[in-house]
Amino acid sequence: MKALVYMGDQNMVVRDEPPPKATAGEVIIKVRAAAICGSELGAVKHNGPNRKPPLIMGHEFVGVRADTGQLVAVNPLVTCGTCDRCRGGQENLCRARSLIGVHRSGGFAEQVAVPIGNIHALPDGTSFLAAVLIEPLANAWHLWHLSNATVSSRVGIIGGGAIGLMTAIVAAHSGATDVTLADVSEARRGTAIDAGVTAVVHRLESEYDVIFDAVGAHETRASSVGQLRPGGRALWEGLHDGESPLDGRDLARREITVIGSFAYVKDEFELAVQTVGLLDERWVEAASLDEGDSVFRRLMGSSEAAVRTALVSSS
Ligand SMILES: [Zn+2]
Ligand SMILES: [Zn+2]
Repeated sequence: MKALVYMGDQNMVVRDEPPPKATAGEVIIKVRAAAICGSELGAVKHNGPNRKPPLIMGHEFVGVRADTGQLVAVNPLVTCGTCDRCRGGQENLCRARSLIGVHRSGGFAEQVAVPIGNIHALPDGTSFLAAVLIEPLANAWHLWHLSNATVSSRVGIIGGGAIGLMTAIVAAHSGATDVTLADVSEARRGTAIDAGVTAVVHRLESEYDVIFDAVGAHETRASSVGQLRPGGRALWEGLHDGESPLDGRDLARREITVIGSFAYVKDEFELAVQTVGLLDERWVEAASLDEGDSVFRRLMGSSEAAVRTALVSSS
């Protein structure tokens, strides 16, 4: 089968790979579309330590079951089911968690083997291009649930990439009427306006009850706490930077809560599947798997205009 393989040293190649074999409890998925995540662009660019070459990446993908032909979305989070976090209903924090496309072969290929418990059937007629956004949408549902925001909360969102945009959509879908999304990219602000986000700005400037940081850079983390009202909550999803300098005295005196957020639980992934109708395939640029290496090079060199670019298999 054809696959896009990360070889290390900023090198990606499209080549023939042996097709996957399903072991007990796994099914073969014929991939229809696999989106390129910002975390993957960063990992290739900076030789990120989590992804060990040679590796077929791709954790945001949809395809059809080879055995039944059913269109499915794949939850890339593989968990043990037995540790304290799994048993406590926080399987996103599983002590033995791994990700399809990071720790094992993922969706940048014609076929991939996945645990049967990780597949979610998609409603008939679902656009497979729109459906690659289910994974970021699941992240957004998790962020929203962790935030305890209500319909009357003043909500700020930093970053108009996939997760920021999905968070704005989830907030509006949940009844929030005061939602502001900030992004420095004019193209992304335009997409957010097209998607119906009511307030779209260059950067957050007034005061919010809850701020979601979908970027995770030093400046956005500072803004995520700096633009909060006293007693407000910052939700951190973005992973751009590691250590960020923050004024601890200020956080204490204003009783700021900072909450980290990682992935989603299974019910939230299923909720994203059920709300796939919120997604629009126009936000996803399609490219061929055959051109995967040049697409990666292009996206690494520029801030992408599309919310996501997805590699589509021709077979
Ligand atoms: Zn991702
Ligand atoms: Zn576990």
